[in-house]
Amino acid sequence: MNQTQTENQNENPADGPNANGEPVIETRAFDAEVHQLLKLMINALYSNREIFLRELVSNASDALDKLRFQALTDSGLQSAEQNPAIEISVDAEKHMLVIEDNGIGMTRDEVVDHIGTIARSGTARFLESLSGDQKTDAKMIGQFGVGFYSAFIVSDKVVVETRSASAGSDEAVRWVSDGKGEYTLETIEREPVGTRIELHLAEDHRDLLDAERVKGIVQHYSNHVSFPIYVQSIDPADDESETESTPRKSVNDTQALWTRPKTEISDDEYTEFYGGLSGDLQAPAKWTHHHVEGNQSYSMLLFLPSQAPYDLAWNRDDRHGLKLYIQRVFIMDAAEQLLPRYLRFVRGVVDSADLPLNVSREILQDSPLLTKIRAAVVRRSLDMIEKLAEQGGEPWQQFQREFGNVLKEGIIEDPDNRERIAGLLHFASTTSTQPYSVSLADYLERAGDEADAVWYLTAENQSQALASPHLEAFFSRQVEVLLLTDPVDAWLVNHLFEYQGKPLKSAASGQLDIDEPDQVVDSKQGERLAGRIKKALGDRVGNVLPSRRLTESASCIAEEASGMNLQMRRILKQAGQDVPEYKPDLEINVSHDLLQRLDRSDDDVYSAELAQVLLDQALLIDGGELADPTGFVKRVNRLLASGAEASGAESASPGRRESGPADETSSSSADQA
Ligand code: ADP
Ligand code: MG
Repeated sequence: MNQTQTENQNENPADGPNANGEPVIETRAFDAEVHQLLKLMINALYSNREIFLRELVSNASDALDKLRFQALTDSGLQSAEQNPAIEISVDAEKHMLVIEDNGIGMTRDEVVDHIGTIARSGTARFLESLSGDQKTDAKMIGQFGVGFYSAFIVSDKVVVETRSASAGSDEAVRWVSDGKGEYTLETIEREPVGTRIELHLAEDHRDLLDAERVKGIVQHYSNHVSFPIYVQSIDPADDESETESTPRKSVNDTQALWTRPKTEISDDEYTEFYGGLSGDLQAPAKWTHHHVEGNQSYSMLLFLPSQAPYDLAWNRDDRHGLKLYIQRVFIMDAAEQLLPRYLRFVRGVVDSADLPLNVSREILQDSPLLTKIRAAVVRRSLDMIEKLAEQGGEPWQQFQREFGNVLKEGIIEDPDNRERIAGLLHFASTTSTQPYSVSLADYLERAGDEADAVWYLTAENQSQALASPHLEAFFSRQVEVLLLTDPVDAWLVNHLFEYQGKPLKSAASGQLDIDEPDQVVDSKQGERLAGRIKKALGDRVGNVLPSRRLTESASCIAEEASGMNLQMRRILKQAGQDVPEYKPDLEINVSHDLLQRLDRSDDDVYSAELAQVLLDQALLIDGGELADPTGFVKRVNRLLASGAEASGAESASPGRRESGPADETSSSSADQA
């Protein structure tokens, strides 16, 4: 009998045999996170249960990759393994599936770190994003490697036996858990380096104990794993000699897909390869495959996913999914070296024949060859996106919805390709309010040759944009205006100055060239009003100008021709950045009732309040924030009340409240007057 020692703290308990020479089994509790994950995962993944095999095969393949890579640089490795392989055995009698590899293995500490806790892995990201809603969670699964714990979807007990190839690591370890909160660890005898995982299938998953079925799953999810995968049935009734004599045939196609000629690869093969690479259960929207020969040779296979991972828009730094191989040996995830941020949704493989195998990240950083490959990756990615654009239809619209925002970052990040990227962007506009429906080329085509600019308006959202006083002049002239409502748009317009020779101009700009004004301003009256308002507002504004374009609204903010737009200020402020102080220019609609009334009034208090309200209104409409919202509301109430008095009792003077600010009581008593 083994002695069991319960050890929930992570103190280092005695391991190795005890005084009687019996092995000690140490029991540990999972991290709270693991516990939570296991419970959620089993529910959320139930209908996708087969992916556990993909995850375990992918871990085995990673372990083989790691061993192969490490063997290049580390002569102390214990393994002289010549035949890297993944073995899957189906043991119907013991209700067991066994997945074994001769890869890098794990030390005892690694087992604890990687399997008892959630290390930095797909699993951790998955856990963070779980919403607790099964339907949503199940949809997200495709976006992650969900990892080792997926074994518990189908198993009521999992046994891991492993031995690390690292120099000096001579003990093997057994990890056992029923996935309910605890696991045990024990030192065991095990000769070969590598990992063996036993899945004891729960009763309702024993239909998986069928070698043909398992082969089918492997081919479906893992066909292009670059190590041979063997599936065998362990049946005591079987004559063993049969398996011994016939040479085994791997279930999968181990020739790296990207090394094969394009003409020999079917769409299904590309799609399946993409699934294994990305974990995405949806087919890719497009792919591009090239073999480049010459003094520098490389192959490149790139995919455009059809759906975005959940964190794509904001998680700009977490880039993975572009794998670098050197002569078919996996070296590393090199998205950071090979893909600019704005293309972080691209997935794929680059295989170089010329980089040295023992290349390090540092060397990669400034390798001229890699710079060349990177330029090719960018060019081919943009080609691929352009092709999707040419085909149009729903896939292209979906691309816009999923990735259009991220692509916009390219205008800022990649000035060399600015015009190309600009050609791929889509926006909403006053003509077509559907999001992502108008390209700059569409705009110019509609605007005609005589158009002098591409007009745009940045705003927080579409309804705010459409209600903006800045658009009045454009509506009346039937000039289309792009409505830019993504946060990134505020930056975009500071970097994209023109498209096909036409300047991009803000509809909110004060320098609007209007040949035939909508407003014929009595210049004397205009000057008089502007002067009075400027005097009342003092330092709060730069200039006050009579508007030649406003027809309905009383006032609006005129944007500086160059400089930060209001949108940008707001975003920076929200991000906690210091925004330089700024005095907006105010445009006033002289013919508006309010302004006319102001002109007639000689009551200074009334005019001062009205002037403040005209400015605050304009700021509000532009999505700006008021420094003093309470003051604004009070002023509006006072003006409303005095208006009510003026119409209720002709004689009442709006100036009678000179004695002090009105409070709620006095305004309600004014209502009753
Ligand atoms: P991920 O593969 O995304 O890192 P997993 O949950 O699939 O997350 O695996 C967790 C970790 O456990 C791996 O990163 C690896 O270090 C270790 N591991 C899992 N399976 C094996 C294996 N067959 N051989 C060696 N290490 C393994
Ligand atoms: Mg994994």
